[in-house]
Amino acid sequence: MPVKSQLTSEVDFDRDGKHHGYLRLPHSVHRSAYGWIPIPVISIKNGDGPVVLLLGGNHGDEYEGQIALNNLARNTTESSVTGQLIILPMANYPAAKAGLRTSPLDQGNLNRSFPGNPVGTPTEMIAHYIESVLLTRADYLLDIHSGGSSMIYHPTLLMTRHIDPEQQQQNFAILSSFGFSRAILFPASPDGSYSSSAAERQNTIAITAEIAGAGTVDADALNQLENGLRAYLGHLGAVPAESPELQRSRQKTQFLEVPSQDYYVYSRYDGLFEAAVEIGAEVTEGQLAGWIHHPDTPMEAPHPIYFDIQATVICKRVPAITQRGDCLYELAAPKT
Ligand SMILES: [Zn+2]
Repeated sequence: MPVKSQLTSEVDFDRDGKHHGYLRLPHSVHRSAYGWIPIPVISIKNGDGPVVLLLGGNHGDEYEGQIALNNLARNTTESSVTGQLIILPMANYPAAKAGLRTSPLDQGNLNRSFPGNPVGTPTEMIAHYIESVLLTRADYLLDIHSGGSSMIYHPTLLMTRHIDPEQQQQNFAILSSFGFSRAILFPASPDGSYSSSAAERQNTIAITAEIAGAGTVDADALNQLENGLRAYLGHLGAVPAESPELQRSRQKTQFLEVPSQDYYVYSRYDGLFEAAVEIGAEVTEGQLAGWIHHPDTPMEAPHPIYFDIQATVICKRVPAITQRGDCLYELAAPKT
């Protein structure tokens, strides 16, 4: 018999209506012997229809998803839903409460923790609950990220490439419904530890969104996310579809892919990073990407960094202080 999750939900996911409360993760510590970690959860259910699981705060220093999902939860009435929305705005609650990528309780990175462990660390227990209890109910998963404290994106969607061409065509339509300018197809994750891999194991159609980042809330990106979220849920039939005029007014989505590790540009030096290009730039092989400055050795000239391939910049490092091995840019190529 597989061990059951130790988390319990104050919300009954089988009940129609709009309900909110907490997932209780048992946590016995010095200041609270019989306490639990309160992970906020909202269920809006109205009969049969698509079940959509919406995650924010998978990484705790990524904020647009946390805000957009709470706005969605407050502004969505039960009668406007067909099927069910299950919303976890702070999926790795300890990390999100602390504003950190990983949990301060166990250093766990939720998006590297699937399929989790029902009797593991708090992060592993959350991963296990999401996969074994929530994803088994869900037809669709939207996991909303951003670049966190160290990176920044413009609103971009990520999805695993599907082997079935018919399903892939449907997935292109789902991605296009957001009206974001970019969507990137990925090969399946090699170790199965991402939410997208968990979704795949549970036959749930998963999209990961990267909204902005830099440990901030970008108002324009948040607005794009909120509009995209409504359009996506409308496309799935979980809320009323947008008018055809509104759908036509949305940006067309360019489909890209990240074919290999060569599309990540890393620093080979410790120092201060000065970027030479912005997100969205089309770069070519040999083009200057930036410099690493060495203020502790004034007579040492800055080291230039160059791009090795022709590509589009989709993500950029934000903090100046940089170590050898830090990612400076993520690049993408047109989809083949
Ligand atoms: Zn993230």
